[in-house]
Amino acid sequence: MALIQPEFIPLSRREAEQLGWSEIDVLLVTGDAYVDHPSFGIAIVGRLLIDAGFRVGLIAQPDWKNPEALKEFGRPLVACGVTSGNLDSMLDLYTVGRRLRHQDVYSENGEPGKRPPHATVVYAQLVRQAFPQLPVILGGLEASLRRIVHYDYWQDKLRPGILVDSKADLVLYGMGEKTVPETYRRIADGKSLAGQRGSARLLGKKEAEAFAIDDSCIELPSWEEHLKNPDALMTSTVTLEREMNPWSGKRLVQRYGDRLLVIEPPPEPPTPAEMDRVYAFPFSNRPHPSYQGRIPAYETIRDSIQAIRGCPGGCAFCGLVAHQGRQIISRSAHSILN
Ligand code: SF4
Repeated sequence: MALIQPEFIPLSRREAEQLGWSEIDVLLVTGDAYVDHPSFGIAIVGRLLIDAGFRVGLIAQPDWKNPEALKEFGRPLVACGVTSGNLDSMLDLYTVGRRLRHQDVYSENGEPGKRPPHATVVYAQLVRQAFPQLPVILGGLEASLRRIVHYDYWQDKLRPGILVDSKADLVLYGMGEKTVPETYRRIADGKSLAGQRGSARLLGKKEAEAFAIDDSCIELPSWEEHLKNPDALMTSTVTLEREMNPWSGKRLVQRYGDRLLVIEPPPEPPTPAEMDRVYAFPFSNRPHPSYQGRIPAYETIRDSIQAIRGCPGGCAFCGLVAHQGRQIISRSAHSILN
């Protein structure tokens, strides 16, 4: 049953208790300061989950060296969702010249150093230390774009799909309107996460052996082939982008030794009515009141209105297609005017 949407997603136990929540179902961890605006993915995800009946606590920019930093709300009953924030954390931290940035625009007062490099992996491991056995779901741009073997520009080397390093249970790639409520509902109900569109999961040896790679699948070059042959990266990347069509895209698989990464096809994009519903959530459209200073990224979007998602462009330098897909979807004119 949907819960009443609060003014802000709680950042502390005291704020959760003010809502009558003595415990939470889902903990969200993000590398950005919390701005309750739909330009910030975590605000949408948090409100989607509250709408789906989950009590949600949010921890923004935790001390990533201390698992205690995640225990503000106690152990969540269902799962933890992890994101680096709106950008890939390496882009937040470094310039293209591989120099540390003087400012992190997603932090209060632009303060640098509030998130770790490769934040998604670091936070996921921190959750594992704080709450052993708790399901960990990755989302956001960093997890989406790093879901298969990829080239890390800052390390100048190939990296495996992010589930290998993070040891999380699932990646939800792309937009979360359809997949986030469904995934957390499955976990709460004790159901399998297999076959969930818009997700990636890493099968261990036994599960991988039992998995049938049939006509519904395309096998990408394995991790080991990537290490031997640089051309394999182009094959994987082009195939991933080509299969981003929700109506014809196939399931992708990629081997890592005796393990198997399984990436399900993308979900159908939200309809205008579904988009309207999400944007009608009562976002406060401002940073959480605990922040005294300015958050530069908020200054950029504070007067903006999101109208569309997706892009058919496919420019080589842009990750948008691998995240949002090629279909342009739009809110209704009525919703935008509202
Ligand atoms: S840069 Fe990205 S968003 Fe812009 S046109 Fe190219 S693919 Fe589309």
